[in-house]
Amino acid sequence: MQAPSVGGVMLPRGNGSTVRLSRGASLTDFAEKINANPAALVSVMFNLGEMVTATQSVSDATLQLLADEMGFVLEIVSRDDEDRELLESFDIDFGVDEGDEEQLAPRPPVVTVMGHVDHGKTRLLDAIRKTNVVAGEAGGITQHIGAYQVVTEVNGEQRPITFLDTPGHEAFSAMRARGAKSTDIAILVVAANDGVMPQTVEALNHAKAAGVPIVVAVNKIDVEGADPTKVRGQLTEFGLVAEEYGGDTMFVDISARQGLNIEELLEAVVLTADASLDLRANPEQDAQGIAIEAHLDKGRGAMATLLVQRGTLRVGDSIVVGDSYGRVRAMLDENGNSLSEAGPSRPVLLLGLTSVPRAGDSFIVVDEDRTARQIAEKRAARDRNASMAQRRVRVSLEGFEAALAAGNIEKLNLIIKGDVSGSVEALEDALVKLDVGEEVELRVLHRGVGAITESDVDLAMGSDAIIIGFNVRAEGRARTAAEREGVDIRYYSVIYQAIEEIEAALKGLLKPEYEEVRLGSAEIREVFRSSKFGNIAGVLVREGIIRRNTKARLLRDGKVVAENLNIEGLRRFKDDATEVREGFEAGVTLGSFNDIKIEDVIETYEMREKPRS
Ligand code: GDP
Repeated sequence: MQAPSVGGVMLPRGNGSTVRLSRGASLTDFAEKINANPAALVSVMFNLGEMVTATQSVSDATLQLLADEMGFVLEIVSRDDEDRELLESFDIDFGVDEGDEEQLAPRPPVVTVMGHVDHGKTRLLDAIRKTNVVAGEAGGITQHIGAYQVVTEVNGEQRPITFLDTPGHEAFSAMRARGAKSTDIAILVVAANDGVMPQTVEALNHAKAAGVPIVVAVNKIDVEGADPTKVRGQLTEFGLVAEEYGGDTMFVDISARQGLNIEELLEAVVLTADASLDLRANPEQDAQGIAIEAHLDKGRGAMATLLVQRGTLRVGDSIVVGDSYGRVRAMLDENGNSLSEAGPSRPVLLLGLTSVPRAGDSFIVVDEDRTARQIAEKRAARDRNASMAQRRVRVSLEGFEAALAAGNIEKLNLIIKGDVSGSVEALEDALVKLDVGEEVELRVLHRGVGAITESDVDLAMGSDAIIIGFNVRAEGRARTAAEREGVDIRYYSVIYQAIEEIEAALKGLLKPEYEEVRLGSAEIREVFRSSKFGNIAGVLVREGIIRRNTKARLLRDGKVVAENLNIEGLRRFKDDATEVREGFEAGVTLGSFNDIKIEDVIETYEMREKPRS
């Protein structure tokens, strides 16, 4: 075989030797590894029909093509391996306790509550929080920080348990997908009047796949027709056999609403942990653990709820969380009390980070600020490269004309989601009839009724499609996935407007001037009727902020039921408020609009002028 030569310069041949490159590497990185001139690699790629510059991040496929051409075996280093190597270079071992057996001390179990929708997960978490006598004594306002700890008495001993406050197996599995193991025990909630449902089975399978022991809470036993025995029978088919039937799974009959048998459930968690897990950690070393959730607080900056997994976290420590870093300025517990230190299994709200980390990021305490900053910066650079390599191919409606002109694409792929099938069909019909000339083809890859889901975003990512939401929105995780991956989602509530914009994009005439900037969302927990104000929504702010005098829409089961509303009144307890943040409760009035129900979601936004690119 002949070595490729460019302009008379011979390039090194791999002859089967291995090159290790991280995801999103550039040709310059490649050249460095094999001692070649980057420009020569650019020429090789050019001859292979791909135009890439020397420093741009390229996709796995491009790296593979180049490696094949030059006779190298390519090994793309995974994110995990790369991170381990990075930490090793600072002499840090993440995920293992320092020292030997004697240094390990028992730690409380960390619990996630899972189960089918409406079976009472949220209500149970509320009920458990209320059993926490310590919080009552402190008289503090319980804050939603994403996790909390309660203490229960088992065999005369005070035993703490940590609960993750985001119910459901979705969050659990998303963390797991990112390599973070947060949960020791799962409580599977099954409503006794409803029995085993699809998500019960899903949750059960997720817990099993993670090797997490399950305690079953048979809920709603106060409801007429509740049949706890039937639930036990049903779950036997899935390998969960109750102790009283000779199995090893503990079942506790509870009523989250009436606060019945909550202590017994907590005891079952402790006993299950003692029987099947060896939960110990070294409390003496530098702290390590994971971020459970994080957000930006206007007044206090980046805030993150961290779960300490080993070691003790102290005020003043230098810390790195994913690609953010800082000094522990203050730590708060779920009752708003400040803590000076936090040991294994303790969740704390941390202040002092320079930026907002992501849920599932690991954290480590290091010797000095400089080390924390260096690790964070290296990770940020790596992630930037990796995501650039992925984003390169995404299409947006604005960029469509340019991509078309450059010959990169010749069709516009669409995914249409709407509130009712009639409007989805009408929109699809009108769009495929658009007369936009010969050179462009418009294809509808998928259409459906209901909210935009993660699987829609996955499809859009895989096939460079744009998603159209007609009177429906993207669900929380679908939206963040779309933002992260650069998938363009367009929302419309008027058919002709959707058609006009798509037509304009196809003709390269698109000139949107305003864009919607999302502020936050809140879930209606209670509806109060007032003769003076009409219906007042008692809400819990789920995300972002709710600000008075901003625009709002109302969602019911992921569908838009009212548009163009206004947050006219906003109250915190008895006082008027201008804005209320994530995790807090508030009273909201929507002017003369009164058609609100429990579990509806209020989404607020502002219209801002969009910079033209
Ligand atoms: P999730 O979707 O699993 O989080 O369910 P929720 O906690 O939101 O509960 C769904 C509905 O069931 C709510 O209306 C609760 O008030 C109700 N609920 C929860 N637990 C009980 C219970 O023990 N008894 C009764 N009667 N209703 C309950």
